[in-house]
Parts: sequence; structure tokens; C-alpha cells
Amino acid sequence: MKMPRIRTILFMIILLFIILQLFYGLSFLIGRFFGTGNIIIVDPGHGGKDSGTIGINNSFEKNINLDISKKLSKRLKLMGYKVILTRNTDEYVDNNQRANLANRKKAKVFISIHCNSVENNSNANGVQVLYYPSEKNNNDVPGNELLAQTILDEVLKSTKANNKGIVERKDLIVLNQTNMPAMIVECGFLSNEDEANLLEANKYQNKIVDGIINGLENYFNYK
Ligand SMILES: [Zn+2]
Repeated sequence: MKMPRIRTILFMIILLFIILQLFYGLSFLIGRFFGTGNIIIVDPGHGGKDSGTIGINNSFEKNINLDISKKLSKRLKLMGYKVILTRNTDEYVDNNQRANLANRKKAKVFISIHCNSVENNSNANGVQVLYYPSEKNNNDVPGNELLAQTILDEVLKSTKANNKGIVERKDLIVLNQTNMPAMIVECGFLSNEDEANLLEANKYQNKIVDGIINGLENYFNYK
């Protein structure tokens, strides 16, 4: 008498599990198709009167940031994500405005694109990701550090660049005023001649984009 009952219960559990999996898979596909639930803000740093850092090869950070951001946005849209750029052209946008936009749109993730620079050291090179440490604050979302590390790992894989690590930053507006996991990808050093030239090249920009996308996909799969 006991065995059939256990079998029935087991069968019901397995059936429930299958139904849940189907439901989850379906809602994930619908979300992807309509671009709902996964709004990603891509934020090209600086712009207009604020050129950012100026490269050793005279490149402007603001232009490289915009180039990479546009490539990233295009690729993400092709994958079905809804993407909002904080600027589309060479214009000045206040950092508070950038964070407010992301909060208003209830974005899932905020990705800011920048390039690095150091004075008096033309050797420094590599990729770094800045994030807000999770603690009691506006942006106390578990996942900031995970997002930063995941993106960094994948960008390093695709670019073979030097690892400059993930760095906690509490002082940056786009990180401490955003309500969602947010990070700044410092794509490389414009104070290093080789890296400055790479950062201007479409091929290298695409490698950075590949890495960010792979990192994002991993991050969404963890969650
Ligand atoms: Zn910058």
C-alpha cells in the first residue's frame, strides 16, 4: 500500500518541477523578445565640454567612450535587450542626470564606459572595473561586486589585457546615486601609447564589447 503512494508523490513533485521549469523558460523568452525586465543603461562617460582624459596620441576619452558604448548598445539590442544610452552624441550630460535616468527607467544594470589615465607613468596599462561596495546605502544591492568581477573576467579574456582588478569607489555619482547594480568599465589607459592606439581601433573596441556582453550574460545567469 505504501509504495504506490510514494510513487505518486514523487511523480507529482517531478511534474511540478517540469511545469515550473517550462513557466520560467517561457517567461524568460517572452521577456527577451519584448525587451521587458532587462533594461540596460549604457553610459558613455564625459561628452561635450568635458572631454575626459586626453590620450598620449591626442585621442579624446569622450569619443572612445561613445564609440564603444554605441557598439555595445547595438549588440545588446540585437540580442533582444532594451538599451538606453545616456548620450548618443558629443554632448555634455551631468552625472546626476545619468543616474536619475537609470532610476526612472528602473534599469536592471548600469554600465558606464570610461578610459583610464595616470600622470608620469606611460607604462600603466590594463582593464579595471569600479563599483560601489554593497552596504547600507541607496545602492545597497547585492551584486555590485559580482557584476564588476564577472565583467572584468570576461573583458580580460577577450582582450588579453592586463588585469588592474576591481576597485571599490564610494565617491562617484553614477555609482552611488544609481539604485541598481552599477559599474564603470575603465577600458584601458590612454596614457599608454600602445593601449591608446588599441582603444581607438574598431577591432579592439569590439573585443571589449564581446567581454562586457559575455560578462553580462554570466551575471544574469547567476541571478
Ligand atoms: Zn572618464
